[in-house]
Amino acid sequence: MYALDHVIRETGTRLQWDPYREIGTLWNGETSVSFRPGNSVVLEDFTTKHRVPGITRQNGALVFSATALETFKGIFAVPERPADGRRVGAIFIDPGHGGKDPGTIGRHARENGMFEIREKNIVLKISHRLVDLLKRQYGDREIVMSRTDDTYLTLEERTEAANNVPIRDGEVIVFVSVHANASLNSRASGFEVWYLSPEVPRDGLVTRTSAGFNDPDLVSLLNTIRDEELTIESILLAQSVLNGLEATIGGFTDNRGIKKESWYVVREAKMPSILVEVGFVTNEAEALLLGDAEYLNKVAHGIYTGVKNFIEDFERQE
Ligand SMILES: [Zn+2]
Repeated sequence: MYALDHVIRETGTRLQWDPYREIGTLWNGETSVSFRPGNSVVLEDFTTKHRVPGITRQNGALVFSATALETFKGIFAVPERPADGRRVGAIFIDPGHGGKDPGTIGRHARENGMFEIREKNIVLKISHRLVDLLKRQYGDREIVMSRTDDTYLTLEERTEAANNVPIRDGEVIVFVSVHANASLNSRASGFEVWYLSPEVPRDGLVTRTSAGFNDPDLVSLLNTIRDEELTIESILLAQSVLNGLEATIGGFTDNRGIKKESWYVVREAKMPSILVEVGFVTNEAEALLLGDAEYLNKVAHGIYTGVKNFIEDFERQE
């Protein structure tokens, strides 16, 4: 039997230990193996099951059989995604609302009559411009819109469409939902970026079937681990897009920062996901800006730069 130190050294891994559930995960780069003392099944990358007898405790210390060590070595010796590393395979742009759902509406009395602005129209214009920019930069990736015209879609249809974008193993989809804000306070103004709250678990990322385990505790733990990874990526994406917007429209309006929330459309999407609120249609000055094509162009450029910088960081080799 081998001690934990020996196994860690031999496999070049680091250990993440959950003391509450007694589950260890060994990490080497993006490859992981999760195990529980006394359980003869281990999980590679939270999905592939290996039968490995002989992971137990002796006098409180973890010990591993020769079979366990050899299995681990085999798993970690496989070069995962050489040369190219992690990759964003697709970018999904979701203009909020549409069709019978106008989103928020701003109405402002002007000298020449009422000025009305509808969220569904603004976010569609921004999204089209954003997709143009992304397609020019990323011709080799899937750039998909939830809607390209004034169509009504349910939130379920949006997330289903995003989840059905084809990507290869190991790739992620970047999900960006574009919205505009409203407030009873007509002075409220500015842009903000939302990401999923870590307090809200994204169920279903690891199912019992895909995990190959019949252990609800383990399945829920694996969900938590994946959820944390996705949340971190979502926060990085949110920060990057916020920075992009600050650079293009920060001089015109307020930067309201990053927020966390459990938007359905974001929660159900199994990918780094954000929701951008580009400004307040209920603020007269901001509504006028949002009615200006050149301003919407700036907004699109800000989001584009944020997504692009996120992708560059995400794919940079460690
Ligand atoms: Zn909205």
